[in-house]
Amino acid sequence: MPLTVASSLSVTSVDWSGLDTILLDMDGTILDLAFDNHFWGTVIPREWGLKRGLDANTSQQRLAPVFANEQGKLNWYCLDFWGDTLDLDIPAIKAEYADGIRWRPQAETFLRQLQASHLDVVLITNAHPLTLEMKAERLPIARWFDKMISSHNYGAPKETPAFWNALMGERPFNPERTLFMDDSEYVLDSAKAFGIADLITLRQPDSTVPLRAVTRFPAIHHFDEISEGLPRID
Ligand SMILES: [Mg+2]
Repeated sequence: MPLTVASSLSVTSVDWSGLDTILLDMDGTILDLAFDNHFWGTVIPREWGLKRGLDANTSQQRLAPVFANEQGKLNWYCLDFWGDTLDLDIPAIKAEYADGIRWRPQAETFLRQLQASHLDVVLITNAHPLTLEMKAERLPIARWFDKMISSHNYGAPKETPAFWNALMGERPFNPERTLFMDDSEYVLDSAKAFGIADLITLRQPDSTVPLRAVTRFPAIHHFDEISEGLPRID
């Protein structure tokens, strides 16, 4: 078990020599979830309401159950699904807001350290391939990863066993020597059920929301809490 965890579920260190693979989520883990929360929580309801003569509050209330119904399913992350359901050109609207796509603090330094290490560094995201592409155009994400995978390619989100079986088929890894970091504890539940030994969540996926004091999984706020033992970058 390469993780050392305090009773408060804070990770105090990672023994990187005990690991071969690191799997990293994108939104809320290496990128600030503020972009996505603002986009889906404010921008999209506003655009949807504009077409129907509704104010922002009414639109948010009407769309809340529609969004809630798809949470945890692949549709939730699917631009085509929402484009059809809401009758909006989601990629076009998203492109207007691309300036808001930002790294989480210290993410790029951490990724550079990982890339310089012995680890296989793999991005696994539920984001739609178009979203991944747009974010990788806006920020130099791809250069730090050995492989980037959208769960849409498997037709199954990270919340399901089918995703993990497909990932093992495409990019084999030893679950006992793999660290997986994701801001979604539902996704971490699924990884745990698959047998991944070391799991870490994030205390502040969205920089505009207060830190989570209570988590079910070991948690960090900033990456330098666990970067000791990785190659140093000047
Ligand atoms: Mg996430």
